[in-house]
Amino acid sequence: MNKVDIKNLSLEELEDFLQGLGKEKYRAKQIFKWIYQKNATTFDQMSNLSKDFRNDLSGRAFVTTFGPEVEESSPDGTRKYLFRLADGACVESVLIPDEGRNTLCVSSQVGCAMGCRFCLTGSFGLERNLSCAEIINQVCAVKNTQDIRNIVFMGMGEPLANLENVIKAVKVLISPDGLQFSNRRVTISTSGLVPEMEILGRSVTVNLAVSLNATTDEQRDRIMPVNRKYPIQQLLAACRKFPLPSRRMITFEYVLIGGVNDSLDDAKRFVKLIHGIPAKVNLIPFNEYEGCVYKSPEQAEIDRFHKYLLDRNITVITRSSRGGDISAACGQLKGRLERPLESVEAETRGKRG
Ligand code: SF4
Repeated sequence: MNKVDIKNLSLEELEDFLQGLGKEKYRAKQIFKWIYQKNATTFDQMSNLSKDFRNDLSGRAFVTTFGPEVEESSPDGTRKYLFRLADGACVESVLIPDEGRNTLCVSSQVGCAMGCRFCLTGSFGLERNLSCAEIINQVCAVKNTQDIRNIVFMGMGEPLANLENVIKAVKVLISPDGLQFSNRRVTISTSGLVPEMEILGRSVTVNLAVSLNATTDEQRDRIMPVNRKYPIQQLLAACRKFPLPSRRMITFEYVLIGGVNDSLDDAKRFVKLIHGIPAKVNLIPFNEYEGCVYKSPEQAEIDRFHKYLLDRNITVITRSSRGGDISAACGQLKGRLERPLESVEAETRGKRG
C-alpha cells in the first residue's frame, strides 16, 4: 500500500481520507493542529488519538519534514535557505526582515519553464513541480527558528504553473487549524498566466502580484515569452477582475533593466496601463549576474522612474538589493549548489568569516 504524506492533503482531503478509515471528520482538525501548530512529526506524539488509531495511521500515512542544507545570512538580516529534496533536487527560500515583520519568499517549482530572459532560474528550465508538502515544509522549516509574518510565492518557479499544489498549500497556510496565516499576509506572484489567475481567484482569497516588467507588447514579448500567449491588455483585464481581500491592492513587480524598460516613456506608459486598478508598484533594479546580457539600471534612471510614479500618487517602493552578498537574486544559490557542496560551504565560510 502506498502511504500518504499528510502534508500533501488539505483539511478537506484529510477529512475524506479519515472518513475512508471510518473515523470522525473532526479528527482531521486534531491531526492538523498537531502537525502545524505543535510541530508533531509522528503519530505517536498525537496523545489525544487512541493508540489503535495512531498505529492504524502509521501504517497508512506519514508526516514529512526537512531542514536547510545550506543557510546563509547577510549583514542586512536577509537569510537564504537551500533545501535538498528527497530526490536530490534543490529549492530555496529567502527570509527578508522588515522591522520585525519578516517575509518568507518560497519556491513552488524546481527551476521554471517560463524563460524570462532576465532570470537565472529561467535559464535552468523546469525540472519539476513541488508537491504541496514540499512547499509547506519550506515554511515549517524556517518557522522553527524565525517569526514569519508574510508569505510570498516569489521564489523559484511560476506558482500558477503548479496551481493545484499551490492552492492546496495556501489552504494549509491560511487554515485556522493549519499554519494560521491571515490571507492578507499571503501573496502569489505570477508572470501572467491569465486562465490560472482566474482559477486562483475562484479557489482562494489571497493577494496577487503580477510581474509586468514592460510597457509594450513588443518589449514584453522579448523579455517574457509568456506575453506572446497572454499579451499585456489581456493580463491587465484579468487583474481588473481578480477578487482581492477587502481594501487590498494588486502589486505590480517591475524589474528595471538598464536601457531596456527604464526610460521616462516607459514610466509614462506604465502609469497609463495600470490606471483604474487598485495597485502598488515594486521597482526592482536588475542585478547583473555572470553571463547575463542585461545591465543594471543607472541610479538616475531608477530615481526618475520612481519619482514619476510617486508624483502621480502611485504607491511605489524601490527594493534595495537586499542580500546581494548572499546571492539572494532569484535562483543564484541553487546555481551555485550545482557545484560540489564543499566549494559552496568553503565560500560561505569565507563570507561569514
Ligand atoms: S522570473 Fe519567475 S516566472 Fe520568470 S523565469 Fe524566473 S522564476 Fe520563472
